[in-house]
Amino acid sequence: MNKPWRIVGQGLAGSCLGWAFLERGIPFEIVDPGTGGSTRVAAGLINPLTGKNFQPSWLIEDFHPHAVNFFERLGKRFGVELWHPLPVMRLAETEKEWLKISSKLDLPEVSGWLDHERDVATPAGFIHQVILRGGGWLDTRLFLDVTRRHFLELGVMEEGVEDMEKTDPSRILCDGAEGLMRNQLGPHRCAKGEILTLRAEWSEELIRVGASGWLIPLGQGLFRVGSTYEWSQLDQRPTDAGLARIIGIARKLGGDEFQVVEHVAGIRPILRRSQPLIGKNAAGNWIFNGLGSKGSLYAPKMAEMLADWIGDGVVPDASFVYESSKEFPS
Ligand SMILES: Cc1cc2nc3c(=O)[nH]c(=O)nc-3n(C[C@H](O)[C@H](O)[C@H](O)COP(=O)(O)OP(=O)(O)OC[C@H]3O[C@@H](n4cnc5c(N)ncnc54)[C@H](O)[C@@H]3O)c2cc1C
Repeated sequence: MNKPWRIVGQGLAGSCLGWAFLERGIPFEIVDPGTGGSTRVAAGLINPLTGKNFQPSWLIEDFHPHAVNFFERLGKRFGVELWHPLPVMRLAETEKEWLKISSKLDLPEVSGWLDHERDVATPAGFIHQVILRGGGWLDTRLFLDVTRRHFLELGVMEEGVEDMEKTDPSRILCDGAEGLMRNQLGPHRCAKGEILTLRAEWSEELIRVGASGWLIPLGQGLFRVGSTYEWSQLDQRPTDAGLARIIGIARKLGGDEFQVVEHVAGIRPILRRSQPLIGKNAAGNWIFNGLGSKGSLYAPKMAEMLADWIGDGVVPDASFVYESSKEFPS
């Protein structure tokens, strides 16, 4: 029997790769301590049109249906709700911001995501809004937990930390920001982010995006709100500055009355914005990294591409492939 592939890291990347291997009957084992990582912290938000520029995410038409279908299917299989679809209200605070958004509304790659049916009032403090379809959030912790439990039952999950001093050609590195900070793939742009969970009596109808942040209703009076970007202090410690910044976002997007239930921090694994890469590193190990701020959207399909490459030799398009000699725009 062939030696199984050894996946290092059970975040979104390693978990999705494990599922893709299982479907294809490719033998593997997976190692992770189960305590850290970005996935455990992430809000799991998928918002089709993002950023100040109100831009469709990279290859969204292709990756979005794939991700939603994957998480819905897996949730059904385990009798849990992993994917929570919710419309997104994209808010503009200033005329300048609204001009940017409104100038794009007729573009074909934008107009398909607009929901014109819903008539919702613009919250105080904002001047305009548009409603987007296709949004929602992945319960990332539950996804990791059901995956881990299943892999443990199958006897393929090892709880521990891989000793990276030793070389092992069967390793597939899905070790997220920790791997990037070990300088495993050359220059990176990893960014720390902080998130709050709040309890409040606000409307739970929509995800709100604006004021350089977002507010996600989790149900039962709980909301997640974020986030910060910080490039110099790459650790997982929540800070007072982060707390103050996110409380400011919460006040604008939700209101003044809330209680903070949880404050967490993590590090986004960024190589070239939120465009992940698969391939081999300089040492010859397979890698899957760089999910950036959009792991929920990109992990399932990238994992399948990597499994098809490793299992059947199907080489993906060069735009998905990591090469140690290539430099990426930050
Ligand atoms: C504050 C914040 C908010 C975010 N919000 C969103 C969001 O709303 N939507 C979204 O899609 N994405 C979001 N993200 C991004 C998302 O978290 C990442 O894209 C994704 O989780 C990365 O997954 P990963 O598997 O590559 O890395 P990780 O989840 O970090 O997984 C890597 C795993 O490897 C393990 N590991 C490392 N070294 C070893 C070793 N030597 N041995 C064993 N195991 C090892 C780690 O413990 C970890 O569990 C957010 C991130 C942050 C920090």
